[in-house]
Amino acid sequence: MASNSRQLRLVFFPHLAHGHLIPTVDMARLFARLGVKVTVATTPLNALLFAHIIQRDKESGFDICARVMKFAAEEVGLPPGCENASSLTSQQMTSKFLMAVDLLRLPLEELLEELRPDCLVADAMFPWATDIAIKFGIPRLVFHGTSCFALCVAHSLVRHEPFRNVASESELFDVPALPHQIKMTRSQLPDYMKEKTETVVKRLMNQVMQSDSSSYGVVVNSFHELEPAYSEHYSKVMGRKAWFVGPVSLCNNDKKDKAERGNAPSISTHECLRWLDSKKPNSVLYVCFGSIFRTRGARLNEIAKGLEASGQDFIWVVRKVDDDEEKEEWLPEGFEERIKGKGLIVRGWAAQVAILEHEAVGGFMSHCGWNSTIESIAAGVPMVTWPLCAEQFSNEKLVTDVLKIGVGVGAKVWRRWTDESVAEGEISMEDIERAVSRVMVGEEGDEMRNRARELKNVAREAVDEVIRETCRRWRLCLGVTNGTGVFEDIVNQILLLPKDSICQF
Ligand code: UDP
Repeated sequence: MASNSRQLRLVFFPHLAHGHLIPTVDMARLFARLGVKVTVATTPLNALLFAHIIQRDKESGFDICARVMKFAAEEVGLPPGCENASSLTSQQMTSKFLMAVDLLRLPLEELLEELRPDCLVADAMFPWATDIAIKFGIPRLVFHGTSCFALCVAHSLVRHEPFRNVASESELFDVPALPHQIKMTRSQLPDYMKEKTETVVKRLMNQVMQSDSSSYGVVVNSFHELEPAYSEHYSKVMGRKAWFVGPVSLCNNDKKDKAERGNAPSISTHECLRWLDSKKPNSVLYVCFGSIFRTRGARLNEIAKGLEASGQDFIWVVRKVDDDEEKEEWLPEGFEERIKGKGLIVRGWAAQVAILEHEAVGGFMSHCGWNSTIESIAAGVPMVTWPLCAEQFSNEKLVTDVLKIGVGVGAKVWRRWTDESVAEGEISMEDIERAVSRVMVGEEGDEMRNRARELKNVAREAVDEVIRETCRRWRLCLGVTNGTGVFEDIVNQILLLPKDSICQF
């Protein structure tokens, strides 16, 4: 049993992309509820994204704040204000962005020098953060921002390279040595994994994958019951230390917190929820492809036709390549007239968690970013899966093949997220209609929905327990942490670490 009378101080250092910032801030807020002093270190414009939420938590008495560090956008040739991955539109910009990210080492060191925290929770995209933590004699926890399943798949692929033994991009192979039989094709894998020669991205991604073994441990935005076989595989077979702290989105109980997660919504959340109020339970499909991926007219046109053909009501969040284009040529003629009352198009940003939690939402067409996936699970909503980039093809396998709470549209080709091109015959309106109907209509859809609901209940219990317990402790005695919950476990382990052992991970 660990008992401590001083307050633990954690610094969270999220990657500069919504898909990493949003869950990291949620996680930081959960730790603050435990009585931990929490600082989120980021750049000025990214700090603005969650300033309101942090301010509200502070007013509620939690010890949480953001500290900003200068981002050297202009020094590396990026336009001023380009501080977030969602502003990048080309591979060239991405390379410059990574250079500017690298320049955050010094400001981070200066901040740690000033704050002298007990632990650094840094995103996996900063492999160098472990060395900095060692310099300050503190442990570093890694946050990958993905599922344990995806980490296990990536580990197996890199270790066994099964994709080298197939004759074509489309031939299926087994991902070796995993708890389930998982089949993939070479075309679904990231370029950097397949490349034989070392590139900047390949080197970075290898370092990212090694971060978890060289650090004190890993925090995962997932819950053990969701992927028990992979949680065990990760610790017993891969020998990594992981804590499951999710779904972290469930820390947003307040309506305002749900509405202000990430960007300001392009449509009032109140209006959106009122529109959903007028719909029957499980009758609306929510469509959104995350915070980064933008798409070209041809794909949008196919989606519009597929949605209309499915006959389902929908909310569709569109992040288009040519945002300024006034003429909406991508919509089929007369589309908006025909879908009046049946479909809501949101151009920009929607309050995703609030929408998913509405009882009228019966399905989520998603690119399978991990946050969207776990948020869908936490809301008990089955998915229409359309992976595009990053580790999204792995997340799709978890949803469709392991959890059986989703149907794929049939996406076959991994792409860089700055690649907005649409290949000939990629995904047709028929593919979309078929997958949407399977999820939204009939017995198969109901079965998936029931399974998703069961997972939602388990997820809520997991996080409710953490929040209930930690809030009770917060009120009882600030800084006394002797429970058995997952957050207490992390806190206790860090507090009990002998300072001089920290460098020997
Ligand atoms: N999100 C949102 N509204 C939008 C688009 C995205 O709230 O219109 C949030 C979503 O809830 C999730 C995050 O942005 O928390 C996207 O993360 P994900 O991992 O799903 O995808 P990424 O953006 O990293 O591709």
